[in-house]
Amino acid sequence: MNDYDLIVLGGGPGGYMAAIRAAKRDKKTLLIEPGELGGTCLNRGCVPVKALLHSAALYRDILNAGRYGINVDGASYDYATIAQRKDGVVRRMRGGLASLIRSAGISVLNARGELAGSNEVVAGGVTYAANNIVLATGAVPAIPNIPGAGVKNVLTSDGVISLTSAPKSVVIVGGGVIGMEFASLFAMLGIAVTVLEALPDVLSGFDRDMVKPVERSLAQNGAIIRAGARVLSFTEADGALATRYVLRDGQEEITASSDIVILAVGRSPATAGIGLERAGVRTDEKGFIPVGDDFMTNVPGVYAVGDVIGRQQLAHAAMAQGAAVADAICGVRQNVKLHTIPSCVYTSPEIAMVGMTERQAIETGRNVKIGVFPAAANARSVIIGESGGSAKIIADAETGEILGAHICAPGATELIAGPAAAMNAEATVEELANTVHPHPTVSEIVMEAALDAIGLCCHK
Ligand code: NAD
Repeated sequence: MNDYDLIVLGGGPGGYMAAIRAAKRDKKTLLIEPGELGGTCLNRGCVPVKALLHSAALYRDILNAGRYGINVDGASYDYATIAQRKDGVVRRMRGGLASLIRSAGISVLNARGELAGSNEVVAGGVTYAANNIVLATGAVPAIPNIPGAGVKNVLTSDGVISLTSAPKSVVIVGGGVIGMEFASLFAMLGIAVTVLEALPDVLSGFDRDMVKPVERSLAQNGAIIRAGARVLSFTEADGALATRYVLRDGQEEITASSDIVILAVGRSPATAGIGLERAGVRTDEKGFIPVGDDFMTNVPGVYAVGDVIGRQQLAHAAMAQGAAVADAICGVRQNVKLHTIPSCVYTSPEIAMVGMTERQAIETGRNVKIGVFPAAANARSVIIGESGGSAKIIADAETGEILGAHICAPGATELIAGPAAAMNAEATVEELANTVHPHPTVSEIVMEAALDAIGLCCHK
């Protein structure tokens, strides 16, 4: 007789959702987490970064208040207080999560857990047995192989979250989601920002038309974006950091000086020391744990979800996978459509997408129709003075199936839930176009883009 029906390693969004869903289905569940409950998302990622961004956007809006007829003199910020507020938000959400886990009747062990076999886990010197084990150990910041990457003030996202005073200047290596969110954060606070991205474009997985307004907004705040950059080294001299790099189109070495450097070049799976070899769990060439449709690894009874499986490294994807794996273990098959999970960038303005990009849709060989609507023609966007973005809908020209939706606008991360729901319900682009959206709202740009895709947009 096993001790538990389910043992979960890792208390982040993937792990705690698996544990809570299984407990709600009456499974005796043990959740093992060596750090704080909530994982990267709640402690070092989504939640604290968005709290910092909220303060920065408020400061930026106060500086711009004159445009709206509001006079505010001498606005300034105190970064220590911004950081304290962020900590308070995290503490509050962590407390809420702990009580959810407690009230679900889950046993929690604050220790490192390690597989001892296909149905055994060792933690704190004790062996626990279970019919099913879910690995949800997450990911850690990747450290690029660049000389000087270990010097003081070359930080990963973990280090940036812990800052209690604002730097005067920042060099960010990597123009992906993390890099660009930090670029927005510091640029809105009036801090000098340089982004060095290896690829020809920042945010390369996103639609270029959605990324351009973010680049423009960053440039307006004085940020410099260098795409096609190869970083050579970091050195420390006289309290400042020197980042040497070359651009693809030139041989000349360029040096950027800054108080801190942020490494944001991706995240690696956190699989060290969790006993994968002992249980015979395979990893791929990048170290991620491959799983099947039911999230089972190559070892029956051992499952994996979240960042450690290397699919969409997103908290909400991990939560969906956590719930799905618990259902699968309980013999319930849910129809979670993983292709309708949105991706969001909390820059200013925000970017959000669901489904395919225009290029991906065309590459499938389908005949696609594309609708676009600029925020400049949307009353609410003009009212709030943020009209640089747009919405784009991509649909199958024959069937009307919505293949992708892209939004760049303030609140885009909220608005994407609409087209994601439409895709999830398998609504056609006509049905999205015929869904009356309230006026005046920014959300109308989605409806108008859908109308544009079927040739019936009257406001463009
Ligand atoms: P990423 O893969 O999104 O971006 C990393 C970027 O760094 C890429 O553009 C890559 O080309 C570049 N790069 C790699 N090596 C480089 C080098 N040596 N020099 C210059 N550029 C280099 O990774 P990330 O931004 O670190 O984020 C990690 C994961 O976390 C992603 O999957 C991301 O989606 C997720 N995340 C999501 C959110 C969100 O949903 N808002 C927020 C933060 C992180």
